[in-house]
Amino acid sequence: VIDAVALASAVDAERLAELTMRLVRVRSYPGEESAVADAYAQMLADAGARVELDTSAAGSPSVIGRVGRPGTRCLQLTGHLDTVPIAHDPPHVEGDVLYGRGACDMKAGLAAIAETVRALAPAVDALDGQLLVTAYGLHEGAGSVPMHAPLRGLLARGVHGDAAIVCEGPRGMLPLSGKGSLIFRIEVTRPATDVDHELRVGDAPNPIVAAQLLCELVGARVAASSLDHPLLGRETFFLGAISGGELYNTLARSVTIHGTRRYPPPRRFEEVVAELDEARAAVEGELGVSIDITCERSGQPFEVARDAAIVMAVQAAHEDIAGSALPAGHQLFASDVNHVASEAGIPVAAFGVDPGPGHSTPEHVSLRELDATARIYVDAAVRYLAGSTET
Ligand SMILES: [Zn+2]
Repeated sequence: VIDAVALASAVDAERLAELTMRLVRVRSYPGEESAVADAYAQMLADAGARVELDTSAAGSPSVIGRVGRPGTRCLQLTGHLDTVPIAHDPPHVEGDVLYGRGACDMKAGLAAIAETVRALAPAVDALDGQLLVTAYGLHEGAGSVPMHAPLRGLLARGVHGDAAIVCEGPRGMLPLSGKGSLIFRIEVTRPATDVDHELRVGDAPNPIVAAQLLCELVGARVAASSLDHPLLGRETFFLGAISGGELYNTLARSVTIHGTRRYPPPRRFEEVVAELDEARAAVEGELGVSIDITCERSGQPFEVARDAAIVMAVQAAHEDIAGSALPAGHQLFASDVNHVASEAGIPVAAFGVDPGPGHSTPEHVSLRELDATARIYVDAAVRYLAGSTET
């Protein structure tokens, strides 16, 4: 029998800080992940993993690491390699706190995964299980490639475990359900006319009025939806940005609207796209404008069973290491949990260092918290792979 807490004590706080610093030093804005992928591949290899680089997403390689025998129960530890593309002072440590771009979001999490691999490598065969590490880019918004393409590509090609831990917070609760979200961009354009003045343009359609009608149609549908999830609530249609037009008495050529459409299960991305498309066709037919809609899927809605083995393993590990309960919760935004749960169809737990300082400047992470986080991963992995959540 392998003692989860004893194995977790193999986690070394100093090495964790050093690994995090090594990753934070490598700039890795979305679409520029090659250097950090190389550094992370080396880090996982040093920790005892068999490592390969997956180059399916052009310009944004993913790192795949494995320990243990193929065909055994497989726990996936997963995270993103890129950071928000916002300049930051050079990284440094002050007492317990490491400062740098990507500190908490999420190079500390990647370091914790590498340390978990190192601690588990000698024990996986005795546990008759394996660890799969996946690390990828294009998470923090993307340029030319659709958001989350590398992760979704890996999942679609079957590169996933029987269960997964997304090694990025929240920290105070384990989200067992989450809304799906779609980011839309709607461009309404009218045919060209010889003159554009309000009083001389005749009956040319007004794209602003058409955009308004479209929003009213979709808004009315969403308001009429009977879908009401006990935790996640209702569907939403949110308008965040609108632009277009030149002057108060000139007929605009086009108007662009940007927003989100969030929805609880069982609503699916495809249904929401179809609904927008129906409204588009109605407005085009009625007003004679042309409407172009781009929908980016930033995550399907998900639900994880409260008694899934990985959920119970992470909760028990939290009790072991942090000495307190980790309550179940839910999330209204989309994260990698949405992708892993819905695209791979496996149970997922999301847990990591406090993500609060992410996307902020300065960005930082507590090294004590990082150490506890890595120990929780090791403890949870032992529990999950041993197929037991008993203490
Ligand atoms: Zn992140």
